[in-house]
Amino acid sequence: MYQAKAYSAAAAQSGLAPATITRRDPTEHDVQIEILFCGICHSDLHMVRNEWGGGTPYPIVPGHEIVGRVTKIGAEVTKHKLGDLVGVGCMVDSDRTCPDCKAGLEQFCPNEVLTYASPDRHLGGFTYGGYSESIVVDEHFVLSVPSNLTPAAAAPLLCAGITTYSPMRHWGVGKGKKVGVVGLGGLGHVGVKLAHGFGAHVVVFTTSANKKDDALRLGADEVVVSKNADEMRKQAGSFDFILDTVAADHDINAYLDLLRRDGNLTLVGAPPKPLAVAAFPLILGRRSLSGSPIGGIAETQEMLDFCGKHNITADVEVIPIQKVNEAYERLLSSKVKYRFSIDMASLKAE
Ligand code: NAP
Ligand code: ZN
Repeated sequence: MYQAKAYSAAAAQSGLAPATITRRDPTEHDVQIEILFCGICHSDLHMVRNEWGGGTPYPIVPGHEIVGRVTKIGAEVTKHKLGDLVGVGCMVDSDRTCPDCKAGLEQFCPNEVLTYASPDRHLGGFTYGGYSESIVVDEHFVLSVPSNLTPAAAAPLLCAGITTYSPMRHWGVGKGKKVGVVGLGGLGHVGVKLAHGFGAHVVVFTTSANKKDDALRLGADEVVVSKNADEMRKQAGSFDFILDTVAADHDINAYLDLLRRDGNLTLVGAPPKPLAVAAFPLILGRRSLSGSPIGGIAETQEMLDFCGKHNITADVEVIPIQKVNEAYERLLSSKVKYRFSIDMASLKAE
């Protein structure tokens, strides 16, 4: 075991503060990673503030958009070598034997271990995430990051990237399809870039009129300010697929009405309170409403390779870790363009 610097929250209202945590020494299948950058996902905020009602275990070290360099490997490791640029997303382990794992869908494994706030099978207690100088992860859950991508901007792909890539692949987003992305935040802006990369006609729905130009620059073909009822009405019944990334309460029926027959709306945003769903928008068009969690390891690598090929990364504001509490407040008021990426070198000052 060894000690690592980190930022952790002691309670829902405490904010994040410097801490020292224990990491395991790499076992034979493990990779030790020096963390260079970690994105700030809205899920970090939901969890730190215990908004999902699951009972966040404190202290919590959040962070699941990790990019770093391999500094040590176990004797049996074959997938990665010293010095490789690698990534870790939302999962660090699973049972590898269940039907979901065998299908490469580790995100559905009943014994999945999340990168933070999951029972830690090695050290006891709970897993600690990426707001830290290093992490030790089984090689299967460590991804290769294409070398042409800037590490700070690639970090958010490990959650925002795969969470938007996977449902769009599942629902056949591509050329000839009209696709909506609701919410131009961390997930949404990466989703727009990916949908554009897949060749779809992309429409962004935003509550922030001042994000219009950015949406077009990011790859949207049209932008709708969702507060404008006329603009919304013009889009009725026309979408094959809509990806909803909104983190707070909102009217989902307004988007169900925009789907064509047999269209699908997938929720990836996870508002703390239940959304009210009206029956008729679903019934009348045989439309469907579904959800999707992150993506499996093989698909995460496929997504990273796709991003490498198409030069897709997040638009990031790089911050020192000392600004993390301020960053959470700006995330809450949708004042980030479009993802914070923490420069972990700043932890050395602690
Ligand atoms: P984010 O950066 O805060 O983006 C959310 C966006 O939603 C905002 O930028 C804003 O876009 C819009 N929005 C915020 N409040 C709104 C409101 N009251 N009404 C309508 N729109 C509103 O968050 P994120 O990191 O992208 O995460 C989004 C959600 O996805 C979170 O709930 C997070 O926990 C969840 N998530 C789920 C998964 C999964 O596996 N399913 C993975 C990661 C994250 P505009 O300004 O454009 O309106
Ligand atoms: Zn996330």
